[in-house]
Amino acid sequence: MLVDVALPLPIPRVFTYRVEEDGLAAGTRVLVPFRGRRLIGWVTGPGAEPVEPVRVRAVSAVLDREPTVPPDLLRLCRWVADYYAAPLGQVLRAALPTLLSDTRRPEPPVRTRRILRLTRELPSLQERDELFGRARRQRACYEAVEGLGGSAEVAHLTGQLGFSLAVLHGLVARGVAEITEHEVERDPFADVPAPPPPRFELTPAQRRARDALVAAAAAAAGKGGEAPGGGTEPDLRPFLLLGVTGSGKTLVYIELLREVVERQGRGAIVLVPEIALTPQTVARFRSHFGDRVAVLHSALSDGERFDAWRALRSGAKRIVVGARSSVFAPVQDLGAIIVDEEHEGTYKQSDEAPRYHAREVAIMRAQMSGAVCVLGSATPSLESWHNAQTGKFRLLELPERVEGRPLPPVRVIDMRGRPGPSPAPGEGGGVSAPPPREAGGTASPLHLPGEGGGASTPLLHRPGEGGGTSGGGAPATSPHLPGGGVPAPVPHLPGGGTSGGGRRQEVLAPELVEAIRLRLERGEQVILLLNRRGYATFIQCRDCGNVWRCRQCNVTLTYHRARRRLVCHYCFHEEPPPITCDRCASGDLSFRGIGTEQVERAVIETFPTARVARMDVDTTSGKWSHHEILDRVGRREIDILLGTQMIAKGLDFPGVTLVGVVNADVGLNLPDFRATERTFQLLTQVAGRAGRGPAGGEVLIQTSLPNHYAIRAALAHDYKGFAARELEERRQPRYPPHCRLANVVISGTDEIAVQEEADRAAEWARAFIRREARGEVEVTGPAPCPIDRIRGRWRWHFLLRSPRAEPIGRTCRALHERYTVRPGGAQLRMALDRDPVALL
Ligand code: ADP
Ligand code: ZN
Ligand code: ZN
Repeated sequence: MLVDVALPLPIPRVFTYRVEEDGLAAGTRVLVPFRGRRLIGWVTGPGAEPVEPVRVRAVSAVLDREPTVPPDLLRLCRWVADYYAAPLGQVLRAALPTLLSDTRRPEPPVRTRRILRLTRELPSLQERDELFGRARRQRACYEAVEGLGGSAEVAHLTGQLGFSLAVLHGLVARGVAEITEHEVERDPFADVPAPPPPRFELTPAQRRARDALVAAAAAAAGKGGEAPGGGTEPDLRPFLLLGVTGSGKTLVYIELLREVVERQGRGAIVLVPEIALTPQTVARFRSHFGDRVAVLHSALSDGERFDAWRALRSGAKRIVVGARSSVFAPVQDLGAIIVDEEHEGTYKQSDEAPRYHAREVAIMRAQMSGAVCVLGSATPSLESWHNAQTGKFRLLELPERVEGRPLPPVRVIDMRGRPGPSPAPGEGGGVSAPPPREAGGTASPLHLPGEGGGASTPLLHRPGEGGGTSGGGAPATSPHLPGGGVPAPVPHLPGGGTSGGGRRQEVLAPELVEAIRLRLERGEQVILLLNRRGYATFIQCRDCGNVWRCRQCNVTLTYHRARRRLVCHYCFHEEPPPITCDRCASGDLSFRGIGTEQVERAVIETFPTARVARMDVDTTSGKWSHHEILDRVGRREIDILLGTQMIAKGLDFPGVTLVGVVNADVGLNLPDFRATERTFQLLTQVAGRAGRGPAGGEVLIQTSLPNHYAIRAALAHDYKGFAARELEERRQPRYPPHCRLANVVISGTDEIAVQEEADRAAEWARAFIRREARGEVEVTGPAPCPIDRIRGRWRWHFLLRSPRAEPIGRTCRALHERYTVRPGGAQLRMALDRDPVALL
C-alpha cells in the first residue's frame, strides 16, 4: 500500500512511500530514505497514487508493531501543526521522546535486568554432593542464591559476589536454575522517599474551589471527548484559579487529582514552568500519589525519559508532572490538566518550530479528551484574565493566604538621586535588552527606518513611548546611558583585591542593609532578587563612550568576574576583558550595570559571616544543582539566597522573612509589549516568597521608578488593579488580549538581503490578506527586530494583527505553505511565531 509519512523537516508537506504491509495505522513509526539520508517518520494515513509518473520509494523498515502515537495524541499534534503553521513531522518530533526519532537507534533501548532464579530445590546434602561433584563454585553460587531467597540479579552475582558467567550458565545447564530478562524502568525518583502528605483542613476558599473542580470532573467523566453520550454536553470551559501567593493552590490541584485519578481512575497532566525550580511542588504530588506519578525532569537521560513515556502509555503511571512538552505525554484516559503558574513565558516554545504555547495546547487537549483544565496563578497572563472576564474561562479565587497569614507589607526604596544600581539595559529571564546605543544616540531599534533618515513610526510601542503618558510614572525611556554619575566598580584587580569602601552602597541601600542585618541577628532567612546575571552587564570607555558588544550579536557583552571573561548571553561567545579601549586606547573603562555576581560580592563584604548562596544560570550548570541549593535553604544552612528570576517562583520556605529586590527596573525598559506585565509578575511572585511562616515577613524594593504603575500595584498586591491599567495600555496601539498577533521574523547573514526579503514577504502577506482574508489582518512593518542581529544573522520582522484568530491562522498557514524565501548566499529563513510572548 501507499502511505503518507510526516518527516521532522521544515517542509510543509507529507511524503508518500510504498510499504509491504497493509493496514498500517496512523501514528506508526517508519524508517524511510530521504535525499540520501534515512529518517524516522510517522505514518499519517494512506497515500494517494502520485499524478506525475514519479518513482514512489519504499519504506526501509516499519519500526512499531503498535503505533507509538495514540490516536488522540496524533489528533492533538495535527491541531498544533495547523494552528501554529508548523510541519506535522516537526510537531511530532517535539511531542515525543527523542529516542523515538533517533535514527541511530531505531529500536529504542529498553533496559533489562537479568535475573537468575533457582528452579529446583535440593533439600539434602547428599543430593548436592551428587549433583555438583567437584563443581564447588557452582555449588557456592547455588547456595548464595538460596540464601538470597531463591533469585538474584545476574549483575549482583557476577559483580559483588564474584561468580563468573560460566558458573551461572553451569547452573542453568544442570537444570537447577534459569536466567530471565526483566524490563526495568529507569525512574530516578524511585529511590527518593516522599514524606507522607501533611493533613490540612481546607480553607473555605480552597473548599469552594475544590467543590467546583470536583463537580466539573464528575460531569466530564465518561462524557465529552470523542463520544458525547447524548443529553447535555458537560461544560468544558477551562478554570482560571486566581490565588494569591501562599493561598494553597497546590492543595486544590491535589484534591482535583484525588477525584480524577483515585475515584474515577482517569489520568492527569500537571504542567509546571520549570521542574528544577519547583522541587517542592513536585514533592507534594509525589507524596500524595507516590509511584503513580511520572516526573519528567529536565535532568533525565533520554532513556529515563523514554521509560517514563512508556509507563504512561501503558497506563502503569497515571499522572505526569513536567514542563512544557509534558502537555504531549501519552496519558491514558485523560481527566484533568493543570497548568501551574500559567503566566510563565517558558510555556511558550519560542526558539524553534513548532512555536507552541503549552497553555493553549493544554486547553485544546482538555477539550478534545473531555478533561477538566485548570490554569493557576497569582498573576495570570492578561489573556487568561481577559478570558475569565468575558466568561470564556470560569474564575475561581483564593483571595487569602492559608491560616489567615497576611501578605507581606511591601515598601519601596527610592533610588533616584542615589548612587544606586544604574537603570541600565535590562535582562529579563534570559532576554537581554538591546545594547545602549553609542553616545549621541542613534535611532531606537523600535523605529522603522525612516525613509532617508527622516521621520520614523514606531512599530512596537513601549516602553515609555507614550505608554506612560496616561498618568502614573513613565518608565525611563532612554535607552541611553545615564550621565557619568554612576561610580563604577573597580574592574578585575589582580589578586581579587577590592577597593572596598563605597561600593556596597551602590548595590544595597542602607535601609536594605539594615533590614538584612536584623534578619540575620534573628536567625531568619533572606531572599535577594536581581534579574541580571554576571558581574557587570556592560563595559564602557569613559573617554569615548565605546561600549563592548558581541561581534555576532547586537547586544552588550556581560563581564563575568569569577571567570574573568566577557560573555555574550546570546551566542555564548567569550573573550578576555579589555584593559584599554580598542577605539581610543584610553585605560579609563567603567564596568557598569550590576549583576548577581556583584550583589553576591557586596553581600559577602557587608555580612562576612552570613552563609550566602547564589542561584542563577552560572551556578546551576549541574543536573541537580538547583535541588542542592534549595535543599540547603530548606535545611536552613543558607542565610541569604540571592539570584535571578529562578528564585522567584513557587518556593515555600517559612524561614524567609525578608525579600529584597535589588533593582526592580531591570526589565521594565525592554522594548517589548509584555515588559511591564512581566515586571509586575516577577515582583509579585518574589514578594510572595516572604512571610510564609508564623514569623511573618516584609519586602523591600529598590527602584528609580517608584511611581510606575507596575511597581505601585506590586506594593499593594493589587493584581486586578494592575490588570485593569495594563489592559488600557494595550489598546493603543493594539496588543493582546485586544487582538491576535503573529510575529514574522526574517533572518539571514546579509543585512540588505534580509531587509529586501522582509519587504517581499510583508508585501506578499498584504496581497494575500486583500485577496483571501477580506482585509481582516493588519500588517505592521517590516522593521529591524529590537535585537537586530543574533549569531551573525540579521533580523527583520513584521506583525500580523487581527481582532480574530481565524484570519491570522489562515495568513500564517499561507506564508508557511505557499511563500518561499529566496535561496541564495544569505541563508534566508522565515520564522512564524503565532501568539508570541516576546517580540525581541
Ligand atoms: P501557592 O502555590 O498558592 O503559593 P502553596 O500551595 O505553596 O501556595 O501553599 C502554601 C503553604 O500552605 C504550603 O506550605 C502548604 O503546605 C500550606 N497549606 C496549603 N493548604 C493549607 C491549609 N488548608 N491549611 C494549612 N496550610 C496549608
Ligand atoms: Zn574609548
Ligand atoms: Zn553573541
